[in-house]
Amino acid sequence: KNKLIGIYGASGFGREVLPLVREKSNEKIEIKFIDDGCLDKELNEVEVVSYEKFLANPIADKSAVVAIADSNIRKKLLERLERDGISIPSITAANNVVLDFNELGEGSILCPFTTITSNAVIGKGFQANIYSYVAHDCVLGDYVTFAPGVKCNGNVHIDDHAYIGTGAIIKQGTPDKPLVIGEGAVVGMGAVVTKSVKPGDVVFGVPAKSIKRASK
Ligand code: UDP
Repeated sequence: KNKLIGIYGASGFGREVLPLVREKSNEKIEIKFIDDGCLDKELNEVEVVSYEKFLANPIADKSAVVAIADSNIRKKLLERLERDGISIPSITAANNVVLDFNELGEGSILCPFTTITSNAVIGKGFQANIYSYVAHDCVLGDYVTFAPGVKCNGNVHIDDHAYIGTGAIIKQGTPDKPLVIGEGAVVGMGAVVTKSVKPGDVVFGVPAKSIKRASK
C-alpha cells in the first residue's frame, strides 16, 4: 500500500464517512480511524489508532478527514492536520449532485443524497449530512454544519460555525438582501427560518423564533 487515509473521529459520524472514503479508494490505499479517546481497537473492520501512531505510520503519503459534528473540534483537528503537513481532501458521496460553478473549501464532507446547486461559495470543513442541500448563490463560512435534511434555499449567507438542525428549512434571500444566519448560531430541528438570525442566537419553531432572547 502506498497511501494512508485517516478518518479522524471513530464514532457515529466516522462510521458513516468510512464507506464514502472506501468507495473512492483502491487496493493501494490503507484506511485507519484516528481517535484521541476511543478505546476500541477496531471499528467496522478498520483499525483505530492514536494520532501519534497515525503520524508514525511508515506510509509517507498521508491524508485525513475530520468526521466529527462539533465544529470547534473540527476546526482544532483540521488545524492540527494542516500544521503537521497532512493533506486534507474533501469527501463527496458518489450520489451527491454538485451542479455548476460552486466553490467548496478543503476538508468538507458531502454525505449521500446531498446537493449543491449553482454558484455557491462554501468555506472549509463544511459538513452536509444526508439529504441536505445548498441552493444557488449561497455563501457559507468555515466549519458550518448541516444535520440531515436541511433545506437551504438561494441567496442565504451562513457564517462560521453555525449549526443547522435536522429538517430545518431556510427561506431564500435576494441578491440585494440575503437572509443571514450569524456566526455560531444554532437553528433547531424542524425550524422554518424566515428572517435573518443574529450571531450566537438559538432559534426554533415555525416560524423560527429566538429561544435564547425569549428566555431572558
Ligand atoms: N475526538 C477526538 N479528538 C478530539 C475530540 C473528539 O478524537 O479532540 C473523538 C472522540 O473520542 C469521539 C469522536 O471524536 O470518538 C466524536 O464522537 P461523537 O459521537 O461525539 O460525535 P459524532 O460522531 O456524532 O460527530
